[in-house]
Amino acid sequence: MTALDILETRPRRTQPGANGATLVPDGQDIDLKARTDAVAAIARQHAADVDSAGRFPEEAIAAARAERLLGVMVPVEFGGDGASISDVVDICYRLGQTCASAAMIYAMHQTKVACLVRHGASDPWHRELLRRIASEQLLLASSTTEGKGGGNVRSSDAAIVPHGDRISLERAATVISYGAYADGVVTTARRSVDADASDQVLVAFLKEDYTLEPTVSWDTLGMRGTCSSGFALKAEGAASQILPISYDKIHVQTMTPMAHLAWAGVWTGIAAAAVEKARLFVRNAARHAKGQLPPGAARVTEASAQLLKLRSLMESGLRRFEQAAGDERVLGSVDFQTAINLIKVDASDLAVSIVMTAMRACGLSGYRNDGDFTIGRHLRDVLSSPIMINNDRILTNVGPSALMVAIPETLQS
Ligand SMILES: Cc1cc2nc3c(=O)[nH]c(=O)nc-3n(C[C@H](O)[C@H](O)[C@H](O)COP(=O)(O)OP(=O)(O)OC[C@H]3O[C@@H](n4cnc5c(N)ncnc54)[C@H](O)[C@@H]3O)c2cc1C
Repeated sequence: MTALDILETRPRRTQPGANGATLVPDGQDIDLKARTDAVAAIARQHAADVDSAGRFPEEAIAAARAERLLGVMVPVEFGGDGASISDVVDICYRLGQTCASAAMIYAMHQTKVACLVRHGASDPWHRELLRRIASEQLLLASSTTEGKGGGNVRSSDAAIVPHGDRISLERAATVISYGAYADGVVTTARRSVDADASDQVLVAFLKEDYTLEPTVSWDTLGMRGTCSSGFALKAEGAASQILPISYDKIHVQTMTPMAHLAWAGVWTGIAAAAVEKARLFVRNAARHAKGQLPPGAARVTEASAQLLKLRSLMESGLRRFEQAAGDERVLGSVDFQTAINLIKVDASDLAVSIVMTAMRACGLSGYRNDGDFTIGRHLRDVLSSPIMINNDRILTNVGPSALMVAIPETLQS
């Protein structure tokens, strides 16, 4: 049985139930919404401190573990909930409204889990890892950015070095979000010392397999709680820890679409939180001015319209990915890859614009770092979105394929 067969035949435990609750086929309620709400409440409580101290959101991640949200995407037969991509992106959105750092950590972890589910489930070592993610709620970090220029995910410098049935890897990882707090790192690497930079594999190392020596600190405008420091990563493990298919396939079939949609779910959550604050600000101002709307009121309408557009973009992106998920040919097509890359660019630009518009609606109250209507943290967090895989890099890469993709003749094609 191939990994794809497993993905297609695995029972999907989650089905939409009443009021957004999620039901298992036997009727037992696994209620993802209630579990997410419980984590969101804790994330919200600690978000300001996580941001100001630039610290790991330990309370929110502990709550996610307690609610067993780290293993939701693991297939039921390996102990998870078999949650869909839409379910997971919805959790990212919900958490993004409260603590963007906790939400982004969750999104990055789930992107790695999605790669393991799709491309590792047919292989004993990775199957056991999936079981452990579900039973022990392991948190996985991601290492793709490397060296000085390092934003090109499809190029690796460090190579896998074989030692019989063992391997080692030494990598100058420019950024590993929550690297110091994770239970494992899933990293790209050159297949061998003789391989080209683009001939890559994906390999999972668990905490006991590696050391991380800090090299670059993480003192940034926003997403401060992701603790995305740089490290010298030195790892050793079994050769079987390398995923059984090459990274070029994993990249197009899972890594790019899952990362782009999960990240965009977080950014949409940040944007929604900013619009909600602007809405409350204008209602509050009108109440204090005998119903007279403040000058920034029209900006709430503008931000709400932009948010609708962003939500539609997310909906269509998710539908497109879920429809294509079983078909490697569609996933690898120029058409799909162009769309999924442009969704990332559009979602990040729109999210930044929405938060800026919400701040203008709130005026000084939004610009302040204190008070009920401050937009500061949302703005600083969302400003990471156009550079998290730089939009200019993506647009340059997509340029030639955008020229090849024909414009559909009808709206329904
Ligand atoms: C919050 C956050 C968390 C992150 N977490 C992780 C993590 O856990 N693991 C990890 O590996 N990485 C992580 N990253 C890094 C991320 O994946 C990207 O590698 C990084 O954001 C790219 O940054 P960059 O723009 O400086 O780099 P680059 O993409 O190298 O770009 C540098 C500059 O060159 C320009 N440029 C590059 N290529 C082109 C091109 N072809 N055409 C035109 N201009 C170009 C860009 O516009 C930019 O100005 C994280 C980033 C952020 C913001």
